[in-house]
Order: sequence, then C-alpha cells, then structure tokens
Amino acid sequence: MKISTKIVRAGLVTDKSTGAISTPIYQTATFRHPELGRSTGYDYSRSQNPTRKAVEETLAALEEGQAGFAFASGMAAITAVLMLYRPGDHLIITEDCYGGTYRVLDKLFTQFGLSATFVDTSDTQQVRQALQPATKAIILETPTNPLMKIADIKAITAIAREAGAQPIHVIVDNTFLSPYLQRPLTLGADIVIHSGSKYLSGHNDVVCGLVVAGDPLLCEKIGFIQNATGSILGPQDCWLLLRGIKTLAIRLRQHEKNAQAVAEWLTQHPSVTKVYYPGLKDHPGKAIQDAQATGYGGMLSFVVDHPRLPAQVLRKVKVLQFAESLGGVESLITFPAIQTHADIPVTIRERLGISDCLLRLSVGIEDVEDIIADLAQALEQ
Ligand SMILES: *Cc1c(COP(=O)(O)O)cnc(C)c1O
Repeated sequence: MKISTKIVRAGLVTDKSTGAISTPIYQTATFRHPELGRSTGYDYSRSQNPTRKAVEETLAALEEGQAGFAFASGMAAITAVLMLYRPGDHLIITEDCYGGTYRVLDKLFTQFGLSATFVDTSDTQQVRQALQPATKAIILETPTNPLMKIADIKAITAIAREAGAQPIHVIVDNTFLSPYLQRPLTLGADIVIHSGSKYLSGHNDVVCGLVVAGDPLLCEKIGFIQNATGSILGPQDCWLLLRGIKTLAIRLRQHEKNAQAVAEWLTQHPSVTKVYYPGLKDHPGKAIQDAQATGYGGMLSFVVDHPRLPAQVLRKVKVLQFAESLGGVESLITFPAIQTHADIPVTIRERLGISDCLLRLSVGIEDVEDIIADLAQALEQ
C-alpha cells in the first residue's frame, strides 16, 4: 500500500463491533474484566487505551516500525527516549536542535549523569570525531531547526554500527518532514521521534508526541517507560491527532509547493541576504535530501539585512501569524533568537547563525500569492 493510502486509513474501522469509520474516543480510565484471569486486553488507560492504540499503530505503520507510542507532547516523547540511558552514558546530538531538546538535556538530564556533545551533524566527520567509548546514542534532527541543515542518516547509521562493542542507537526527530516525506527507520535509524503537535496533527490545535522503534526489545523498553512514567496522550487528543493525520499527504504537498515558491521569491528580495530551504538548488544538503527523502517540507528560514527589520515584519504581517510552533495549515512566522531558541546560550546561537536578523517561516496552505504579498508589505522599508 502506498503511503498516501496508509495515511488516509489512520484509525479506520478500529471498532469492529460497530464498524464505526472513525475511531471512537474511548474516554475511560479503566476497563471491566470479564472474569478473574481473563482480560479484554485493556485494564487501565495509562497502560493502554483503544483510541491511543489506533494512533500508535498508525504511526508504527507510517514509519515502518514495530510499535508506536503516543505521549502528552513532543518533549514528553523525547524525555521518554532519553530515559533509555544511564548515568555515565554519552550522547551526540545535532547542535542547532529544537530549543526544548537542548534545554531538557542541558538543564535536566545532566543532573542524572548523561553527557552530550553538540555537533554539526550535517558534517558526518564531526559525528565520527565526537564518538566516545561511552557513546550510546546519536540524536539527529534533519532538516535542522531553524537552519535547515541536512544530516546523512544512512552514513551516520553506518558510523554507529561500526563504532564499537556496545550498540549505538541512531535517533531521528522526524518532526519537520513527517513519515510522508522521510522514514528514518528504513534508512537504518533505530528510533523516530515526533512532535505530533506539528505536521502530523497539522491544525495547531493539539500538543502531542510520538515515538516509533523497529527493534522489539527496544519497543518493549520504551513501552515500559511510557507506562511507568505515565506521560501518555489522552483519548481526546489521540482522536484529534488521528483526524489530523488523515490529510497529512495532501497538506504536505501544498505546504511544500508554497514553501518552494516563497523561498524562491525571498531569494530575489533586496532586503533578504540568505534563504535556508532544502528545495533551493544551491542548498548545501540538497543532494542528500534528494537521496533520503521525497521532498523538502514547508519550513524555511531567512536572514534580513538589518536587525530593525524582524520586529517590523512581525508587527506588520497580516496573513502570517506571529506565533511559535509550525506545521499547521496556518502560516506562522517566528524569531528564533528570542522565541524558540532562547535557552541556547548567545555565544552558541551566534556561532550557529541564529542571529537577530533571522526569521523562521512555517509556510501554510493559504494561497501562495497572499503569503508572498503579505511578506512583501511587511518587508517594505
Ligand atoms: C516542537 C518540536 C519539539 C517539541 O514538541 P512539543 O510537542 O512542543 O513538546 C521537538 N522537536 C521539534 C523538531 C519540534 O519542532
């Protein structure tokens, strides 16, 4: 079955007894047992819930993994995955990663003895050089947030496999592309993470997170952590997520078409000095992107020629909304240095290029002429 078909079938007729096309919202905390020693397969909704099961199975199918796990947020999903590791373990992670991922590692997991090296994962050599005997995982974002750098998932998986005695997991935060455009497990990765709050749900109306893994033993461990720590996604939000996923393919096609047009328009703009979008011919990661994904997504960043301009743009936009987050049908614009990446120290931010002239755009599915006209009037000096 092709991926667009699998997407539409999210949660289709999971309630066999009624044949309901849409998965019902099983708003229940607990389940009656038929008799002692017999179970329906459900006992308590932290452990399992039929609505959650539908979305977890959907994600496992879309990412071509063994099992999926739904969490209360993307950060809860990332936290659950980090709990796989122990004091003394070392991780390698993309340096321009999501600000919240940096924060949870830098401020919380260091307290529990995890250490992390942040590197430019678009440079495979840097990943190799960061390996230590205690390295247990390589965490990738590709494309990165907000600079849209591309990591070669296959090449990095090969490094992890060669590296040594202990297995090194390759973990990919696939939020920016979604399984419609990129399936890291098929490229050799061990674990995929999503903030489902973005493209998967797609309407800026739910916060949720997902994990999918391929190896049954790894799935068992993640399932244990999910049940033990309990940051699960509630049935109502599972239903919203299922509903959102059904249109993922058609939404992403439009996001991408619009993003490509906006990126090309921005490159011609006199006040714009740089555009980061992997669909642009001169994007340094384009060849790898073409090899490992089937598209470029709807996210882009651009640099304006004066630090006065971002505030003006954010004040003047009308079609675009000045808001954090991404991946919904509405176009959103944000200012990473202050908004999404505030927890990354200024010196690191500046080295990464997350400057006070950088704006990030989540291109929505509005008519692209309206998006461009809005940007044009907002950028006018
Ligand atoms: C938003 C986001 C997260 C965090 O997800 P939440 O659902 O907001 O907790 C993690 N990674 C990436 C790439 C994101 O964009």
